[in-house]
Amino acid sequence: MTVAEKITALRKELHEHNRRYYVEDAPVISDQVFDEKLAALIALEKEHPAFFDPNSPSQRVGGAVTKNFTTVMHQHRMYSLDNSYNKQDLLDWEARICKILGVTALDYTCELKYDGASISLTYVNGKLSQAVTRGDGFQGDEVTNNIKTINTVPLQISSNDVPETFTIRGEIILPLAGFKAMNVARIRAGEEPYMNPRNTASGSLKLQDSNLVAARPLDCFLYQIVADRSLFKTQLESLKAASRWGFFVPKHYAHAANMDAVLAYLKEWEEKRSTLPYEIDGVVIKVNDLAFQEELGYTAKSPRWAMAYKFKAEAAETLLEDVVYQVGRTGAITPVAQLTPVLLGGTVVKRASLHNADFITDLDLHYHDTVFVEKGGEIIPKITAISTNKRQPNSVPVRYAVNCPECDTPLERNPDEAQHYCPNTNGCMPQLVGRVAHFISRKAMDIDGLGAETIQLMMQHNLIKSYADLYAISEVDLVPLERLAEKSAHNIVKAIAASTEVPFSRVLFALGIRYVGQTVAKKLAQHFGSIAALSMATTDELEAVDEIGSRIAESVIAFFAISENRQIIEQLRTAGVQLEQQNNESPASDTLADLRFVVSGVFTDFSRDELKALIEQHGGKIVSSISSKTSYVVSGDNMGPSKKTKASALGIPIISEKELVLMLKP
Ligand code: AMP
Ligand code: ZN
Repeated sequence: MTVAEKITALRKELHEHNRRYYVEDAPVISDQVFDEKLAALIALEKEHPAFFDPNSPSQRVGGAVTKNFTTVMHQHRMYSLDNSYNKQDLLDWEARICKILGVTALDYTCELKYDGASISLTYVNGKLSQAVTRGDGFQGDEVTNNIKTINTVPLQISSNDVPETFTIRGEIILPLAGFKAMNVARIRAGEEPYMNPRNTASGSLKLQDSNLVAARPLDCFLYQIVADRSLFKTQLESLKAASRWGFFVPKHYAHAANMDAVLAYLKEWEEKRSTLPYEIDGVVIKVNDLAFQEELGYTAKSPRWAMAYKFKAEAAETLLEDVVYQVGRTGAITPVAQLTPVLLGGTVVKRASLHNADFITDLDLHYHDTVFVEKGGEIIPKITAISTNKRQPNSVPVRYAVNCPECDTPLERNPDEAQHYCPNTNGCMPQLVGRVAHFISRKAMDIDGLGAETIQLMMQHNLIKSYADLYAISEVDLVPLERLAEKSAHNIVKAIAASTEVPFSRVLFALGIRYVGQTVAKKLAQHFGSIAALSMATTDELEAVDEIGSRIAESVIAFFAISENRQIIEQLRTAGVQLEQQNNESPASDTLADLRFVVSGVFTDFSRDELKALIEQHGGKIVSSISSKTSYVVSGDNMGPSKKTKASALGIPIISEKELVLMLKP
């Protein structure tokens, strides 16, 4: 046997054993023998790198690191599902679609609605070629390297009745046992436990290091083949085919000959759901006949041929121990209920959001009340009701905080707003820290390496009072702070200096003016052109701008009325931060002479054409495809994977728009 044959044989064998173990749950060799074979394959591949195969079973162990996930358009849009909550909703739906189809009865498939993160897998010639998250339904993130580590995802299909190209959709889920084990480990390591399996599953997909993903006990449940429809006649047939092809399709799906059978299935699973080793949040009912599915088509949001039936949210009863108040960066106060820990749908709940003072009054919440908590779609559960008959006779109603829990300043509330605010903008720690954290965040000044804890330390050590003071920080100031290594201090100072290149609109967003988000900041920057002009604008002038109403206008005016804020802006000006809109008329130079650039992807600070113009202005040459003569690839947010592979194969540096701008600095 040649080496190539040996490698191929081992791969084939391991794919098959993997399927038997993870998908069929019927292994035919021991774990030890499997591990030995895998080790043999890894050794051979290492010795003979020419036989590298991205779909080799060895790739499951992880190793690839993805710094920026590429955005990919879905070939077929990934829709949401319509929701139903009771029998009547379903009967109405059936009546609606029967009318469209001109029939009097339909048969369905019922599948469990797995609660995880959706994924779209594309196979070409039987090999997994791409895995993309749902994203906004039109485009998602390519997470192939991470998905490859999930054992229930076939990397290679052995069956020979698969189409040349097809896409299959499924849900990445984290089974409850694995979730609990992860949390036990975290608590032991002194870390905060994860909130719930669904968020942990979807968070896993976007981890940069695929080794970490490989370590998580994720599964992939498949439910929909998207391909040439003529392959199958019914949804049922397609599910069976998916199983046969080696995909993991949970066995609990059923054919329902009519709506009564659907209702029976719902009743059965509403009762049995807690016996499943993973979480479901309902059932998905699909018209079985695929020709009917095609005829029914889609609304703007969801297929007409499918309906999700949502189970009632699970509720648990527990005790309200206390109410605490959190202060956000804008001074907004959020009341949070502290609960006696209680198990709810597989996770321990000990806090619930109380939203605002009205919410508490409407509930008529008393201290030490017995309350019902429910997990809705949100991360933090909600208190939905109080068990008033369990209330102690002498219990006291929750009285909303009068003073800020952090700085003791009396709280304020605008008559037309639900939220309370701490008005001590320039003296209340969480507000000060929050504003700096916002200032440095990725979409604002993009200063990496500073966490909230370090910011707080810097404030406590009087190194900074506001974000403007960041620009006066030196490495010597930072190193003595707890836990800050010299290297990271160096990087932080470098990142702060680099942020003076951030364009004005993002600076404006970074300032943290209440109600001035990214879009509003862009509009204001474009319209006024500079901070000087904006700071002098009147309410009328502000409201004359597209989409700017009185609330934003007042907030902008109030910001510039505060003398500390004006001082901060002067400090930023001295530091060289961009306080004027640039019109890209930077002087021409020959800094990039003799260099050849490929520009690819979507950028934050420039349009692609602006970036090309900028390069040419400085003597660089734009070329359209990567070759050994290319000097740099300037990559934006969704550069194609093939370009990436080609650039790294040829050893051509891939740089960001920021690095390009830095190259141009005199
Ligand atoms: P929603 O996000 O509530 O609109 O529900 C739609 C999502 O349900 C889809 O994106 C899938 O990720 C998920 N889902 C879970 N199980 C199934 C299933 N058996 N069939 C279709 N979708 C499912
Ligand atoms: Zn305060």
